[in-house]
Amino acid sequence: MSIGIILRAARFAAEKHKDQQRKGEDGSPYIHHPLDVACLLATEGGIENPDVLVAALLHDTLEDTATTPAELIALFGEKIVGIVKEVSDDKSLPKEVRKEEQVRNAPGLSFEAKLVKLADKICNTRDILAFPPADWSLARKQKYFDWATRVVSGLRGVHPVLEAVFDATMARRKELG
Ligand code: ZN
Repeated sequence: MSIGIILRAARFAAEKHKDQQRKGEDGSPYIHHPLDVACLLATEGGIENPDVLVAALLHDTLEDTATTPAELIALFGEKIVGIVKEVSDDKSLPKEVRKEEQVRNAPGLSFEAKLVKLADKICNTRDILAFPPADWSLARKQKYFDWATRVVSGLRGVHPVLEAVFDATMARRKELG
């Protein structure tokens, strides 16, 4: 029953991210972000595939918490963990290298991972517009938008509606202050 696994994933991610906050000036609990990504896919993207929605809820657990792949496999299965791994950076690499790896790897991601990655970039850039991190300069915000555009160019063709949502978000970059 897919509603059950989706809610379990939301609960699991909430527990794993419970001590983290978003970088934005509102300092909201981190779990808002994976919830936003899954909501965007379901509502604006019309996606009902539970593997995609569960992977969206879990997408930052490997990268940003102490969660292990074995833990995720036991609870959510190999398929979902595979998607989460695809969208996770290799934390052993320096940050700038990881960012270039995202650009390079985007075209080769699975269909499911491309959807999660695209929704992640939409949510992150929307958050920068709505709740800019207080210590980010305008140049840093613009650099993030430029980089997100490069990553998304490697995802194109996966979901035209969500790509248009991304483009509409990019069209607001003049609002960056
Ligand atoms: Zn994310």
